[in-house]
Amino acid sequence: MASALSFRLEDRVAVVTGGSSGIGLATARLLLRAGARVAVCGRDRTRLDAAQGALAAEAGTDRLLAHRCDVLDADEVGNFADAVAARFGAADILVNNAGEGRVSTFADTTDEAWRAELDLKFFSVIRPTRAFLPQLERSAAGSIVCVNSLLARQPEQHMVATSAARAGVLNLVRSLGTELAPKRVRVNAVLIGLVDSGQWRRRFQAQAAAGESWEAWSAGLAKGKGIPLGRLGQPQEAAHAILFLASPLASYTTGTFIDVSGGLSRHV
Ligand code: NDP
Repeated sequence: MASALSFRLEDRVAVVTGGSSGIGLATARLLLRAGARVAVCGRDRTRLDAAQGALAAEAGTDRLLAHRCDVLDADEVGNFADAVAARFGAADILVNNAGEGRVSTFADTTDEAWRAELDLKFFSVIRPTRAFLPQLERSAAGSIVCVNSLLARQPEQHMVATSAARAGVLNLVRSLGTELAPKRVRVNAVLIGLVDSGQWRRRFQAQAAAGESWEAWSAGLAKGKGIPLGRLGQPQEAAHAILFLASPLASYTTGTFIDVSGGLSRHV
């Protein structure tokens, strides 16, 4: 077998859900730099347009598609898959990244909140995977990467529903890896600890003391959490692991995950 020692993805089509901010945007940027044609989606048109502008400024528009789509809406996801096929042919890589965490304990999580969280975490993987699978199956190197959380293995009391849902998604990734292996579609995940992104910037806006800088606030957060590397991760650091799993360099890896938590995981 020839060595696949290359991150170049010139002939590949990559789809990143939630590609308009944070980890998804950094992943889209890296995939474009690696030569792929890239489609991103998000719900908010303004945020999507801003991301499209930033990506196009670096990579031009020929290899870029930005499509408004809520991954929880089956029709919209189907339309997104059709738009990718019409523009680029078929997808080789799907990054299931869209979503956010829910801060709540068991005591303050209602039935509706549980349902919403389980819906978001499972169907943000299920719907895009189902919609893009016929395209991925046609690829010689189909690959799905799910952006999951360390909470899947290390639950936190203040994020009870997110933790439980994330554990289910970790399990689902293993099942998908097995079921799709005969179709030559690999399925893996990254387990994120704390990475600087839109959701952390929103928490900073809501929680920081008057005049407190992001640097001071996030350093305090990293210290409080006991992150061994002493800081939050950068979105591109998550993107590096995602790119590896999506690329031919990970051609013999499926149904598993890479930890991107700065050493926060207590597991061996
Ligand atoms: P951001 O808020 O920066 O980015 C989230 C992206 O997802 C945005 O583009 C957002 O766009 C999009 N999105 C959210 N919901 C939907 C939806 N229903 N349909 C389509 N797009 C959607 O956050 P992150 O980069 O942090 O989050 C990326 C992933 O990483 C999420 O799944 C998150 O849970 C996970 N994660 C992040 C951690 C961190 O520390 N940053 C820790 C653990 C997991 P829009 O709102 O316009 O739809």
